[in-house]
Formats: sequence, structure tokens, C-alpha cells
Amino acid sequence: MSTYRAPLADMRFVLFDLLKVEAQYARLPGGENATRDTVDAILDEAAKFCEQVLAPLNASGDEQGCTLDKATATVTTPKGFKEAYAQYIEGGWSSLNAPEQYGGQYLPDSLGAPLKEMLDSANLSWGNFPLLSHGASESLKHHGEEWQRQVFLKPIVEGRWTGTMCLTEPHCGSDLGLLRTRAEPNPDGTYRVSGTKIFITAGEHDLTENIVHLVLARLPDAPAGVKGISLFIVPKYKTDKSGKIGERNTVACASIEHKMGIKASVTCVMNFDNAEGYLIGQPNRGLMAMFTMMNTARLAVGIQGLGLIERAYQASLAYARERLQGRALTGPKFADKPADPLIVHPDIRRMLLTQKAFAEGGRALAYYAATLVDLVERSPDADERKRADELLSFLIPIVKALLTELANESTYHAVQIHGGHGYIHETGVEQFERDARITTIYEGTTGIQALDLLGRKIMQTQGVGLTHFLNEIGAFCKAHAGDAALGEFVGPVATAAKEWGELTQAVGQRAAYLFYSGYVTLAYFWARSVAAADASTQSDAFKQAKRHTARFYFARILPRAAAHAVTMRSGADNLLAMPDAMFG
Ligand SMILES: Cc1cc2nc3c(=O)[nH]c(=O)nc-3n(C[C@H](O)[C@H](O)[C@H](O)COP(=O)(O)OP(=O)(O)OC[C@H]3O[C@@H](n4cnc5c(N)ncnc54)[C@H](O)[C@@H]3O)c2cc1C
Repeated sequence: MSTYRAPLADMRFVLFDLLKVEAQYARLPGGENATRDTVDAILDEAAKFCEQVLAPLNASGDEQGCTLDKATATVTTPKGFKEAYAQYIEGGWSSLNAPEQYGGQYLPDSLGAPLKEMLDSANLSWGNFPLLSHGASESLKHHGEEWQRQVFLKPIVEGRWTGTMCLTEPHCGSDLGLLRTRAEPNPDGTYRVSGTKIFITAGEHDLTENIVHLVLARLPDAPAGVKGISLFIVPKYKTDKSGKIGERNTVACASIEHKMGIKASVTCVMNFDNAEGYLIGQPNRGLMAMFTMMNTARLAVGIQGLGLIERAYQASLAYARERLQGRALTGPKFADKPADPLIVHPDIRRMLLTQKAFAEGGRALAYYAATLVDLVERSPDADERKRADELLSFLIPIVKALLTELANESTYHAVQIHGGHGYIHETGVEQFERDARITTIYEGTTGIQALDLLGRKIMQTQGVGLTHFLNEIGAFCKAHAGDAALGEFVGPVATAAKEWGELTQAVGQRAAYLFYSGYVTLAYFWARSVAAADASTQSDAFKQAKRHTARFYFARILPRAAAHAVTMRSGADNLLAMPDAMFG
């Protein structure tokens, strides 16, 4: 069974050397407390919690799963989960970024990125309990009335209650316009919510005293489709406007799903039977309220991908150093041993380097996106907020889809590197592959991210986010144009960025466009990483490792973008021409 060690050195490199967060934090509200010393201490403490408390519960949680007692509609989480949650609250992790008036510490949002990566590397299932609270917090913060924030947001921030997001129904997944759950107004201003929601993460559990469901439903006079959806707060225990908890509400978990992975994260069918709720935000504007929090929720799932990429890499590397099989092609490297370790073999190195390039490049991309959240939420300058928002909205589908797809590739390699021992349960890596599979599905499938990127983020905005990003890449390439040591990276990035702009004009195939965009985006972050490492006080070995990995990325991964470009140029006819009946 592999152990987890938080990659603190690379996390610090990305935050301080690459993204220069110290300067950004110093000028943002709430950032004044995020000094280098504080951030270092936070990273160290988070690492301890994730390595020592959460990681040891990952395999046992997978084996035990959650159980539902149908008679009482209560869910029991695996052994140790409740205690770990209590420690999480005690450590102040639930309140890291929330505003102070709601009980938070108001530290920069981007500090949540390394914390989230560590939680997800250590125990993806456990991480899903606080994850949904974060989404609910964002909705309440941006769309709730003040009393709703006081009554519902505060206990979530304090960790005493958790949140859920109830969107999906049996006949309604990606296409939310189809949803049927109803909400009828009561004379006292509350609503009666009725309907069935499926696949609800953390819909029922034993970690907290109350659960706040955020539910999409239709008012009686609502127009059809997405323009007739409203958002409601439905607490597990009825809660009045003063915050007093009353009797059990008529919302209950009817069953829980048996899944391929994330078995310790409970996935519930939730029945709402005239449950008492409160409207949040404007009537029929519920989907808009959801979109507000989607940036952070999708970034969070992208970071789940990153966490798994890293965890799979760590397990693979440890095994490749220790397992002795065969001899290096160039002759024995460890002549005193019966065989050389796996790491000498080119094919194993290809897989390890792929994982490393995804982990470190993905970290740079994800944390960069998280620093944009800081600007959107806190910059006093309206122009800076607007630009950051446009750039972030554009990058989100790339972060979500690319990092989760690469997590599937990275965990696949982990099993392959472990050979037969990877396929059996004991080594633990097959769990990573099973856990990774959901990340490309929930919070919008990869296909839906591809539609979002091209439809909403390029077409609807005339490509404003892409233009910001290409300008940023252009400025980087210009600044390093004369730098011979960086020429091998800057040249290809400049060429790819030019092609990206041209391809956007003539796209036929959305998924190919998303992957093309993703691989070019990672190339940019790899070129930036080498430049930042060279300019930093990191050790020579660290700098050289960055350069070697970047060379691997540019030689062996970036060419995938070219294949996607060819695919795109082939148009959509080869996909659409065959009549449905001919599929057989
Ligand atoms: C473990 C787990 C946890 C979940 N947690 C939650 C939760 O907490 N709250 C919640 O509300 N939901 C949750 N979900 C639901 C999840 O978000 C949905 O499963 C997901 O959005 C996809 O919807 P669907 O399953 O109905 O698939 P469908 O929408 O039926 O899609 C099936 C396939 O068709 C593709 N597709 C669909 N529409 C289009 C289109 N217009 N163009 C091109 N391709 C398309 C999709 O990409 C996908 O490949 C969870 C699901 C699981 C399995």
C-alpha cells in the first residue's frame, strides 16, 4: 500500500516562484495575513493532516463504503471519517477563505488550491464531504439574503453543517432544462419542495448535525426550459429565520448508489415530499445562481484530477524504484542486484515522465486559475476584476476537462507500471483508477465542458478570454525572445499560440478543440515553469528536473495537439454523415 507525501517543494515553487503570490496577496483584502511564514505554516499543517489522518483512511473507506439504514434513512460513513471531519473543523480548514462576518478567516481563495489538492490526493472520497459545502457557501455568499447567510452560511463555514447541490433527476442530467422538481409558495413566504433528485453527493451522512440542500426546482408559473428554474434552500432539519432548529424536514435519503469508485463518498437518491424551503436569489434565475458557483466547483473537480495524478505518480515512482525486473538495455545498472529496478526501462520512464509532466504542469495551471479567483473576488480595481473573470471563465472548462482526463491517463499508467500487482487490490493503485473515473463525468462531463468552451466561452463572448490568454502568452514569449536557454520552449509555445488563434476561427469539432487548447495551455505553463525555475533560488537539481520534464512534455505530449488540430480540420462530416440506423 502506497503512502502519501504532500509535494510541498513543488507547491511552494508554483505559488512563490512561478505565480509570485506574495506580491498579489499583499495588495488584496484579506491577503495581508497571508505572509510567506503563514502560508508555509498552513501548507505544513495541511500536509500533516492529509498524510497522517486522511491518507490512512483511503483504502479502508473504499473497502467499507457507506451504509444506509433504510428504517431511519440514516447513513453511516466508514470508520474514522467522523473523527477526521472533527479534526478538520478543529484545524479551522472549513473556514479558511470565507468572509470574517460569517465566521471565516478570509485568507486568499487560492490558498484553498494546495489544501484541496492534498485532501484529494490523500482521500478523494472524504474530500467530497467538504467539497459540496464549498459550492453551497458560494451560492449563499453571492445570492443569499443576509438572514440566509447568517442562518445557513455561518454553520457551514464553521463546519457544523454541510451543504449539497441537488440538480440531477432520473431523466435530467446534462440537460437541466428538463427538470421537474416543483416548489409551491406558502402564505408565510416559505415553499413546499417536491420531487426526486438522484446522485446527490453527501445527501445524507453522520458527520454533522444538519445538512443544507440547495435544490433546483420549478415554481408553479415558471416558463419551460432553463429559464424557469429557481434555487431553494431545503435544510434536513427545519430551520427558522432566527436559526432555531426544529423538527425533521420531509426530505429523506431513499437509497444509496453502489459505485465503481469513490465508494466512501455517499451518493444518494433524495426524496423531497413537500419539504419546507426558502427561495434563494430571484425566481426563475436559479441557473444563473448555479453558474456563479460553477467556476469554483469545476475548478475544484479539476483539482481532484490533479490530486489523483500526483498520488498515482508517487505510487508509481516508489514502485519503479523498488521493483527489480530485467536489465537496462545499455547493460546492468545495479550489477550487485539480481536485476535492475523498473525505473531503468524506457517504457516505464515514458509513463513516469508523463505523470510528472501532468502533475507539475497541471499544478501550475490549476493554481494559476485559483489566483484568478482571488482577483475576481477581491481586487479593488473593476477592470482587473473583469479581465480576471473573463480569463477564469475561459480557462475553467480546460482545467476541469483536461486535468480529469489526464487523471484517468495517469492512474491507468500507475496500474500498468505495477503490472499484475497493480491490477490486484492490495497495492491500492487500482482504487486510484476507479476513483478517477467519475471526475470526467460529474460537475459537467468532458463533452459538456467542450460545448461550454466553444459555445459559451468563445462564441458568446467573441473569444474575449482566449484573447486575454493569448496576449499573456504573447507577452511571455516576447519577454523571453532573446533568452537562448529558453528558446527550445518559447519558440514552440509562440507557434502553437498563433495556430490556436487561427484554429479558433474555423472549428468543426468541439472535443478536439478542448484537448488542443489544453495541451497548448500546459505547454505554456511548462515554458513558464522552466523560466521561473531558472530565475529562482531553487537548487540546480530542481531546475534541471524542470527542464528535463519540460523537454519530455514538448517532445512527447505537445505533439498530441497537432493530432487534435488535424482532427478539427477534418470537419464534422465524418462524425455526422453516417445515418443513425447504420450503427447496426
Ligand atoms: C458519483 C456521482 C456523484 C454525483 N454528484 C452529484 C451531485 O452532488 N449533485 C447533482 O446534482 N448531480 C450529481 N451527479 C450527477 C452528475 O453531475 C451527472 O451524472 C452528469 O452531469 C451527467 O449527467 P447524466 O449522468 O444524466 O448523463 P447524460 O446527460 O445523459 O449524458 C450522457 C452522455 O451524453 C453526453 N451528452 C449529453 N448531452 C450532450 C450534448 N448536448 N452534446 C454532446 N454530448 C452530450 C454526455 O457528455 C455523456 O457522455 C453525480 C453523479 C455521480 C455518478
